[in-house]
Amino acid sequence: MTCLLSRRSLLAASAALALAPRARAGDAASTRVGAFMVTPLLDGLFPLEPRMIPGAESEEGRALLAQAGLPPSGPSPEPVNAFLIRRRDRAWLLDAGCGTVFGPGFDRVAGALAAQGLDPARIEAVWLTHLHADHAGGLLTPEGRARFPQAELVLQEAEAAFWGDPASRSRAPAEMAPFFDTAQTVLTAYGDRLRRVSGEAVLAPGAAFLPLPGHTPGHAGVVLEDGPDRLLIWGDVVHSRILQFRHPGWTVIWDADKAEAEATRRRIFDRAAAERLPVTGMHLTGRGRVERLRDGYAFVA
Ligand SMILES: [Zn+2]
Repeated sequence: MTCLLSRRSLLAASAALALAPRARAGDAASTRVGAFMVTPLLDGLFPLEPRMIPGAESEEGRALLAQAGLPPSGPSPEPVNAFLIRRRDRAWLLDAGCGTVFGPGFDRVAGALAAQGLDPARIEAVWLTHLHADHAGGLLTPEGRARFPQAELVLQEAEAAFWGDPASRSRAPAEMAPFFDTAQTVLTAYGDRLRRVSGEAVLAPGAAFLPLPGHTPGHAGVVLEDGPDRLLIWGDVVHSRILQFRHPGWTVIWDADKAEAEATRRRIFDRAAAERLPVTGMHLTGRGRVERLRDGYAFVA
């Protein structure tokens, strides 16, 4: 994706990260979901430019960014999160951040894990929402080997099939080639420890996948549930809190199936609002609830 990010905007995001008081490794705010402890691990800040959400290249888009105190023509710095999930002495990772795939400014997950006192060998499984490089790059060492030596890698069958298929690669736009490189390196590095599952597969007691297709064919969130406590960590349903709650029809250029991505976003917004289901995500800071407005939705932290 380096070709999709200008050096200038990466530097701007790095500067913003240096200023963000909550962004230092070890500052992560853990929250409980019953007996689960959930810790967001900030890998870095991604400079989201309006051209990456074409609907935002509009008067309305510029106005929303300006109202949020950002330059009307962007970029808006958005988090790239992984999540550490613990239950008693067990530890899992949900996604792994960018690793070194996008150059400087990212790859903070390893340090954030160390700050939590966790050796990578303690992670028993990595649950993957999808195989995009900002979620899977951190599974690899700079040399392209498995960074988590004991972990099983669990992902949806449809996701592994799409990225492992040479035909998908030849059909995709040329700028997606680096995504395929990273995905295929990950599938190879974890080849003997891959577990492909389908649908609402149980990942651990109280943890299950929730398929949310569209962004990628096998894109899925994870629902944690223990007694009355629940949390949906929804992967990439939202890339911009400022823009996409208000305009759920505004898709990102990386959506594999834009119509399906939009339908999924509307469906899960409606469900989260109706069930008062707490949510968080890989490109969302904090956890909160979705509220239905007369015009669109809102995220209430
Ligand atoms: Zn992402």
